[in-house]
Amino acid sequence: MNRKGFLGIFCMLLLMGCENPRLHLLNVFKSIEVEVSRNSVAFPLLNDICERYGPRMAGTESAAKAEELAAILFRSYGYEDVFFQPFTYNLWQRGTAVLRIDTAGSFVEFPSLALAYTPSGNVSSVIVDAGNGLIEDFDGIDVSGKIVLIHLGLLPGTPETVKNTHRAQKLALAVAQGAAGCIAVSSTPGDLPTTGTVTLDGGMIKIPAVSISLERGMQLRKCIAQRKCYARIQTENTSKPATTRNVVARMEGYELPEETIVIGAHLDSWDISPGALDNASGAVSVLDIARTFRALDLKTRRTIDFVLFMAEEEGHYGSELYVREARHRNRLQGIRYMFNQDMTINTYGFNLMGRYESEDFFRETGELIQLTDSSFSNTIANFTHLGSDHAPFIFEGISTFTPLCRYQDFHSYHTTADTPDLITPLMLEKNVKISAMILYALANAQELPVTLFTGEQTRQYLIDNDLQESLVVSGDWIWD
Ligand SMILES: [Zn+2]
Repeated sequence: MNRKGFLGIFCMLLLMGCENPRLHLLNVFKSIEVEVSRNSVAFPLLNDICERYGPRMAGTESAAKAEELAAILFRSYGYEDVFFQPFTYNLWQRGTAVLRIDTAGSFVEFPSLALAYTPSGNVSSVIVDAGNGLIEDFDGIDVSGKIVLIHLGLLPGTPETVKNTHRAQKLALAVAQGAAGCIAVSSTPGDLPTTGTVTLDGGMIKIPAVSISLERGMQLRKCIAQRKCYARIQTENTSKPATTRNVVARMEGYELPEETIVIGAHLDSWDISPGALDNASGAVSVLDIARTFRALDLKTRRTIDFVLFMAEEEGHYGSELYVREARHRNRLQGIRYMFNQDMTINTYGFNLMGRYESEDFFRETGELIQLTDSSFSNTIANFTHLGSDHAPFIFEGISTFTPLCRYQDFHSYHTTADTPDLITPLMLEKNVKISAMILYALANAQELPVTLFTGEQTRQYLIDNDLQESLVVSGDWIWD
C-alpha cells in the first residue's frame, strides 16, 4: 500500500472514531483507565485528609481546613469556577456519656456512645426491651418513665416484610411512648458502639440516648429476658450554631451548559474517627475524578458540578442548601442526574434508586466499561433510600444514582474504627475509574433517558418505593 492509501485508511479510521459514539466512549474509557492507574491521588489524599485533619464534623476548625484544601485542589487541577456555599446550622457537641447497667446485682459500666443530638441528662430506671423499636414493637409493653432498649437494625428472626426505619424515627417513637432514656444496640458486629444523628428537626431530642455494641446488646437482651435489669444513663452534651461550607467546582458544558450532572460526596464526618470510609472515600473520589477530567482535558456537552457537601451526617444540610441555591438561580430544572458518592470503594455496578428508565443506558455503558475492566460486573440495582445527600434531589424529582460497592468489612461504620488502614489504593481507584466513566458518558450523551419528575410523579415514586411512611413520621411528607 502506498503512502497515500495508508493515509486515507488512517483518516477514515480516525473519522469513524469521531463519528461512532461507542468507539469514542471506549477510547475515553481506556484513557481514564490508564490515567487513574498511573496518576490517581485518591489514596494519598485520603490518608492526608484523615491524618492531617482527623474528624471533620461540619462547623469545626478541622472541617474548615478540609474545605479550604478541597478548593485549593480543585483550582490546582485547572478548574476556574470554584466556589463555596456557606451556611449555618446547629452543631451538636459531644461531652461525656456514662452508662451503668445492673445485670447481676451491681451496676457495671458498659462502653457506650451518646447518639448525636442527645441532650444532657441523668436517668435511672428499669430497662424494657422494645425489640426493633418499630411501632408494632411497643404493642403490649409500657415504657413510660423507663429506659427502653431498641435495636438499630432488625433483629435476627424479624419477618422479611418488616422494613427498618432510621434511628431518628425510632428515637422519636420512643419519646412519643414516654420513655425516659434509650439504649440503642448497634446493628454491625465488631464490639463497638456506633454514633449517628437522632434528631428530626436539628434540635436536641428530649431524652438521653446512648448506643452499645451489638455483642453487648445481645448479652443484655438475654439478661432482660430472665430478670429485671436496671440502667443509669448520664450524658453531658451541648449544641451551638456553627458555619460550614459546601465546595463546588463547575465545568461548563460546551453545548448544553444549562443541563447539569451533579457528582457529590460529603466531606464531613462524625467526631469520633477520621471517617475514612464514611466519607473520605467518597470525597477523594470526587476530587480524583475531577482531576482525571482535567488531566485528560475531557470536554463534555453538559455542565458537571463536582460538589463536596458538608453536614450530611447531621441531616443532609449541605445538599439541601445546594438544591435551594440551584432553585434560586434557576438551575434546578437543568439538573439531569445527581450521582452520590457515599462510602465508595470496590465499585461493581450502579444503584439507580428505582429510576428504571435509565437501566438500558447504564447497562449499555456498563458493557463498554467491562471492556476496560473485566472485574466490573455491571450489576444494576434499584434499592431506594433517603439516607444520604441524594435525598434533597429526589424530592425535586431529579434522577439520582450511586455506585454499588463491595465492603469486605463494614464494622467501621459510624464507629471509632473508621480509619484509613481499612482502605487500599486499588479499592479507591476502582471507584474513581468506573465513576469517571459513567459520569463522562452521561455528561456527553446525545440524549439522556430521564426527565424531571413532576410533583405528582415524585409523590408516586416515593409511595412505590415505600418511602412515604418514614417521611410522614419525620414530618417531611408534603405531597398531599
Ligand atoms: Zn456518609
